[in-house]
This record gives sequence, structure tokens and C-alpha cells, in this order.
Amino acid sequence: MHFEVTILGSNGAIPAYDRHPTSHFLNYNGDGFLLDCGEGTQIQMSRHNIKRGRLDHVFITHLHGDHFFGMMGLITSFNLNYREHTLHIHGPLGIEEIVNAHFKYAQTQLKYPIEFHVITDDRPRLVFENNALTVESIILKHRIPTTGFLFREKTGMRKILPEKIALHQIPVQDISRIKQGADYTQSDGSVIANKEMTADPAPARSYAFCTDTVYNESILDQIQGVSVLYHEATFLNMHKDRAAETLHSTTGEAATIASKAQVGKLIIGHYSARYEDLAPMLAECQEVFLNTELAIEGKSYTI
Ligand SMILES: [Zn+2]
Ligand SMILES: [Zn+2]
Repeated sequence: MHFEVTILGSNGAIPAYDRHPTSHFLNYNGDGFLLDCGEGTQIQMSRHNIKRGRLDHVFITHLHGDHFFGMMGLITSFNLNYREHTLHIHGPLGIEEIVNAHFKYAQTQLKYPIEFHVITDDRPRLVFENNALTVESIILKHRIPTTGFLFREKTGMRKILPEKIALHQIPVQDISRIKQGADYTQSDGSVIANKEMTADPAPARSYAFCTDTVYNESILDQIQGVSVLYHEATFLNMHKDRAAETLHSTTGEAATIASKAQVGKLIIGHYSARYEDLAPMLAECQEVFLNTELAIEGKSYTI
């Protein structure tokens, strides 16, 4: 299954050096999920050839403008493009009021439904599920209520070994049950145990999206061992005080979270507009957690 994230916006509050406010597009086997929708998101989607047709779910972490100012543009374009199917918006209390107020005063009646899923929790919970994925909220610490999101693939079916199909002459109609874990009863009544015929499924992959947040070890248990962690790193280590003041993280703090959670890979972003050159940010992270990459707009990262 195809599972990748494309960075549409990588900067913090102020756009700078052709870097835009936060937005990530997650593609799971053709289904699109948008994580935050900063100003310019739909323009970035066009620039980077993101197909919107199968984008049905938008997840907003919090109501600072750099994480949702792109919503009105995106919703409006869907309307002008004759979208008919429901758009689901998952986000904090207030998002519904803001969106509705805009369209009320614009005297615009949308031609498709929007369903809001308000997140007001102070502990993680399942916020979305389909047949392939679960999404949990991650409680972050920032100036206003903020939740990250943890996308986790459901464990796949067992892999049936082709040589066993041939050896036991297993009929096609039994294969799906065996993949789900069933034993196989042969025509003479003898039973072949499932583990004799199958191998374990590929490990479930996961993507944790943590922005904006101060250094917060209380998320460690939940994100332990995720395949890819995106963690904001707004500031260099030398601006640690500024990070603490504004409830953001430094490079060293993001990398420490990645290291303690033993994640597969760390991607950092939400860069402060004060930094043009991002190489020092990467270097500082890699001193603590080697498998770090910078979020670069237009670049896709396999989960
Ligand atoms: Zn922000
Ligand atoms: Zn913020």
C-alpha cells in the first residue's frame, strides 16, 4: 500500500524565503488527508500536482492562523469546482463557527456538505477510522488547545505462501479466510494450521504529526516506535528561551523527543522566519538523532 506525506508548507507563522505556513498532504493508497491548511495551501497543491478529488478529510491542529488560513480558499474552490461529496473537517472548538461566519457574510450557500468533527479532548482518543487506518489525537502543549494526529495503518492480512497453495492444492475460495488467520481443512478431514501456510503481515506503518508544541515528554508513550515523526522545530538551540516563551520547540528538543520515542525517522519543520539557511537546524538535530530530515516543500516522504 502506498503511504507517503508531501510537504506543502514548512514554515512557522510568517511566510519567508518561499516557504509557506504549515500543511502536509498524506496519501494512503490514493485517499488524501490534509494535515493543517495554512495560507497558500491550495496554491501549493496545484504547484506540486496534488490531486484533490479524493481529499475528504482535513485535520486542523489548532486555531493559530498559520495552521488554517488556507481553509476558506480550499472550501471555496471545491464549491466552484462542483464538489458534491462531504468534506470532513476535524479540528478544535471554534473551527465550525469561523468557517460558517465566513460563508454567512459572503452570502454563499455551499453546494456540498461539510461535516465538522470537533476535538476538545484533554487526553488522546480515536478521532477517525476507516478500513485501512486509525487516527488518534495527540495532546500537545501550546498557547491554545492543540492536538497533533497519529495515523496508524491497521495490521494487514497474513501473507499466504504460494508454495503452500500448490503443495496442499488450496482452492481459491479458501485463500481469503486463510489470509485472515483461519486454518485449512483438507478433503480427508486433516487440518493444516494457519502458521504452516502463512507469514506475518508487513509491520503496520505510522505517521505522527506534532505541531505546534513546547517540549513535552507526555507524548512519548503514544508515539513510541512510530515509523515517521513530524515534530516542529521552530528555533535553533541558541533561541531556547524564545522557544519556551512562545511554547514552541528547538531543534535539540524535537530530536530528543524522536530519540526517546525511538522513531524510525524524524522530519522537522515550522521554521522561524528568522532563519534563511536551514542547514544548521538539520545539523543540530542530527547531533541527537541522526535519521532526521528537513521538511522541504514539494518533497514526498515514504512512510
Ligand atoms: Zn504555528
Ligand atoms: Zn501555534
